Amino acid sequence: MSPAPLTDRHGRTHRSLRISIVDKCDLRCTYCMPEDQRFLPREELMTRAEIAAIARLFVEHYGVTKVRLTGGEPLVRPDAVDIVRDLSALGVSLGLTTNAMSLDKHLDDLIDAGLGSINISLDTFDAERFRRITRRDGFGRVRANIGLALQRGLRVKVNTVVMRGVNDDELLRFVELTREHPVHVRFIEFMPFAGNRWGRERVYTHAEMLGHIGSVHSFEKLDDDPHSTAKAYRVPGWPGTFAVISTVTEPFCSGCDRLRLTAEGRMRNCLFAREETDLLSAFRRGEDIAPLIEANVLAKQAMLGGLPPFRPERQQDVLHDLSVRPMVSIGG
Ligand code: SF4
Repeated sequence: MSPAPLTDRHGRTHRSLRISIVDKCDLRCTYCMPEDQRFLPREELMTRAEIAAIARLFVEHYGVTKVRLTGGEPLVRPDAVDIVRDLSALGVSLGLTTNAMSLDKHLDDLIDAGLGSINISLDTFDAERFRRITRRDGFGRVRANIGLALQRGLRVKVNTVVMRGVNDDELLRFVELTREHPVHVRFIEFMPFAGNRWGRERVYTHAEMLGHIGSVHSFEKLDDDPHSTAKAYRVPGWPGTFAVISTVTEPFCSGCDRLRLTAEGRMRNCLFAREETDLLSAFRRGEDIAPLIEANVLAKQAMLGGLPPFRPERQQDVLHDLSVRPMVSIGG
C-alpha cells in the first residue's frame, strides 16, 4: 500500500522529520540552553529500537523521505552511530546536526553507517568569544572537525546564529569559508526560545546581512528548494555558498514540510509549537499511534506555531506566548 502523505489544513505535505535523540549537550550555548536547564532521566528518552520503529512508521506509512538527527547534542548519546545505521537502512536522506566537539571520534563510523550530510554549529572564529557563547572551551576542536568532515567528503553545512553586538562583525569571515571550501554557510536570524533572553533589537536581519556582505562582495541569488528554510547565495566562482534563515523577518512557513520528534517521543508540528503530542507513552502501551500523528498534523498552525509575528511592536506578545520548551530540547 502506498504511503498516505501527512498533509495539514493549509495544504502542506510533510516529508521531513527532525528527531531529537537526546536533550543533553556538551556545550551550553546562551541562545539555546537556559542556565538552570534540567535533563531527562534515560528511561524517559526513546530507546534505539523505539526511534527506529517510530521513524519507520513515518517513512513507510506517511512517505517521509528526509530525516535529520538533532539534540541537544546527538553525539553525546553512546548509540548515536547505531541510530544512524538504523535510519539510513530506511533509505531516507539522512543528516545530523552537531556541535562537532567530539566529531573526530565518530566520523568514520558515522560515514560507514550511512551518514551523507552534516550540519555543524559554529557562531564565531574567536576562541574567547566561543567560550562566552558556549560557556565551554572547544573552538579549536570544532574548527578542526569542520576541516575533517570536508576532507572525508561529507556535505557540510555550517550553522551560525547571528546576534547583534555578539558576532555580527564576523559575517565576512564566515563568507570567506566559502572561498576556501565547498561548504554551505547558513546565517540564522536569532529566534525567540524559552530562557534565551531574545529581544527583537538583538536580531541582525536578513536585509542587514546582505547589505553587510554586499558592501565587500558581489554575489548571486541561487534557486531555493520550495521547502528550504534558507535563501541561498554565492560569490561567483567560489566553491561554497552562503544562505540566510530569516524566520524572524521573512518567515517561510508556506512551504514548510517539517515535523519534529523530541527526545522523549513528543511530536511537534512546528519549531514554535505550543502543543505537543505524546507518541512514546502510547507506543509503549502498544497502542496505534497513527491517529495521534495525523491529529497533530491537522492541528498545525499556518505560521510560526500560531505565535504573533516577530515584529518589534509585538515583542512582548511573542515572549508571553512562547512555548516553555527551550531550544536545547527541540533541536536544530
Ligand atoms: S516556524 Fe514552524 S511552520 Fe514556520 S517554517 Fe518553521 S517549523 Fe515550519
